[in-house]
Amino acid sequence: METIHVNLGPRSYDIAITSDGDGLAPFLKQCAPNMTGAFIVTDDNVRQHASRIFHALKIAGVRVHLSTVSAGENTKRLEMASRLYDDLAEWPADRRTLVVAVGGGVIGDLAGFAAATYNRGLPLFMVPTTLLAMVDSSVGGKVGINHKRGKNLIGAFHQPDGVWIDTRLLETLPDREYRSGMAEVVKYGMILDEPFFNWQEENATAMRDRDPAALRHLIAQSCRLKATVVEQDEREETGIRVKLNYGHTFAHAFEAIGGYGEWLHGEAVSAGMITASRLAEKRGMIDASITERQRKLLVAFGLPVVNKPEWNVDDLLYSMYRDKKTEAGKLRFILPKRIGDVVTVDGIPEEEVIDVLTGSS
Ligand code: NAD
Repeated sequence: METIHVNLGPRSYDIAITSDGDGLAPFLKQCAPNMTGAFIVTDDNVRQHASRIFHALKIAGVRVHLSTVSAGENTKRLEMASRLYDDLAEWPADRRTLVVAVGGGVIGDLAGFAAATYNRGLPLFMVPTTLLAMVDSSVGGKVGINHKRGKNLIGAFHQPDGVWIDTRLLETLPDREYRSGMAEVVKYGMILDEPFFNWQEENATAMRDRDPAALRHLIAQSCRLKATVVEQDEREETGIRVKLNYGHTFAHAFEAIGGYGEWLHGEAVSAGMITASRLAEKRGMIDASITERQRKLLVAFGLPVVNKPEWNVDDLLYSMYRDKKTEAGKLRFILPKRIGDVVTVDGIPEEEVIDVLTGSS
């Protein structure tokens, strides 16, 4: 078992990465020594994993409860948080009840939001079951739910007390979901770590085939990189954490205009990164080989690299102006300077963005 420490002063925590599944109960107890019980939240696709965790904790003498919600993005809404509040109140939970999220990013965000708000905040423990949740959403403390006017509009920063990553939980994850998570892994190499990007080029087949050693390495390195960013800018205030949004301004527009469900988040991020890279090329910041290396890697994971021609460019632009990360009506993008480094660029003329979206450059 490998452990990564996220250093956030009094909110510090450990991420454990393993492929043998043993040791969850002692690790959880070590992370939350004062807890009075574990309130597990899961969805109906991962209930089998959550049930196993339920029994392991029970055998370890923990008072435990399991709440199951429906799978899917639509579950990340206030009514479902409210249902969890009801379950917490009825069980009943107290101030030291540990909320344990067993699932993908939807469950982590929803259960995390319930934990951040119930009884002025309960401790949280993450057991991510998708690749995206293992390398991204379970680390960093962002929790939240959607509003009909926008994704993740209601939320909080609420760091977990610990994260348990068992790569064996990925064995049941559908292939498309798995490959979609790889987009964020490619992103980490691009924004922060050239050797990690090179490693991915050399190990793309092992990554795609879910080789356990490759998986542990890529998850550990991704968590380390995300932790470094979060440690420097926990609440996205200094401009460092926004680097994690490489490809995301385009991706959010692709998701909104394509309709959520057309593309998975990682698929949109994949095409978004290539579009951003082409924009950087157009501005003379990088040469074409940098875009080509990203494209090759993403295609190796079966990910899309261009927006669909039927998506209206004006609609895409409008959506980008409305993106909650856009400030004062200015188009802002995170663009690559080289592999392993990105920069925020403000005030890019619309024509340049239209050109890369229509493929005319
Ligand atoms: P998800 O949680 O919806 O999981 C995808 C699908 O896979 C679901 O149907 C789920 O039931 C199923 N599933 C999960 N694990 C499984 C397993 N091991 N076996 C079989 N099926 C399994 O989606 P996701 O991609 O993990 O997360 C997307 C969400 O994460 C979005 O809501 C996004 O906003 C959020 N997110 C949050 C952060 C953050 O920092 N908080 C970062 C990135 C994304």
